[in-house]
Amino acid sequence: MITILRLGERPGRDQRINTHLALVSRAFGADKLIMFFKDQSLLDSIASVNRNFGGDFSIDVRQSGEWRAVIKQWKGFIAHLTMYGQDLDSGLTKLHSLVSSQEETTSELKSLEAELSTDEVGEQRGRGNDGPGKQPIETNDLLVIVGGEKVPAEVYSRAHVNIAVGNQPHSEVAALAVFLDRFQHGRWAEKEMPGWKHKIIPQDRGKKVQSSDE
Ligand code: SAM
Repeated sequence: MITILRLGERPGRDQRINTHLALVSRAFGADKLIMFFKDQSLLDSIASVNRNFGGDFSIDVRQSGEWRAVIKQWKGFIAHLTMYGQDLDSGLTKLHSLVSSQEETTSELKSLEAELSTDEVGEQRGRGNDGPGKQPIETNDLLVIVGGEKVPAEVYSRAHVNIAVGNQPHSEVAALAVFLDRFQHGRWAEKEMPGWKHKIIPQDRGKKVQSSDE
């Protein structure tokens, strides 16, 4: 599961950027966007996109002070996108290897669960795999943090990896799209959105849209 955390938004000024962040997150395979200011028109338009094109992408609006708690309580991995981070290739190599070692641990734990008591499995869980925030890693869920204005220093230290999509300043929307594509090796594009009413059939010219009731 991939969740995007949007920090540093400027209410009123970043409305269109937030809409693009939500649409890109949904289209490029993320499951949820966490943000801290409620924009009913954004919630309505994402609900309408879900209704028409499928999927259950959600937006979770939290109280503005809650970003620290979200990060501290995150039980999976955290990637922070920033132009100051390490280069994309080495950041992805690190993240992919963290995820696959967690997958190995999870499957070892499943075998152990068959043999050991709950307490013993609890002891094994989280052993030696504390994240930078000392939060034991329990899942492969990924939290991807994008900023707006200045990002607090704590975000850099709590992230397992700070990744730059090139070292030029550009946009959270562009950085997120490139990151999500590369993290998933492009496989987001094959993902079917369940429950679609309308599905666009790719073709060179013209518009072809299939309806679920056809
Ligand atoms: N000072 C910011 C930074 O640390 O990247 C640039 C601010 S930019 C207006 C807003 C957000 O876009 C950043 O917080 C970051 O998430 C994203 N961003 C911009 N350029 C980026 C880059 N080259 N690599 C990764 N993320 C970038």
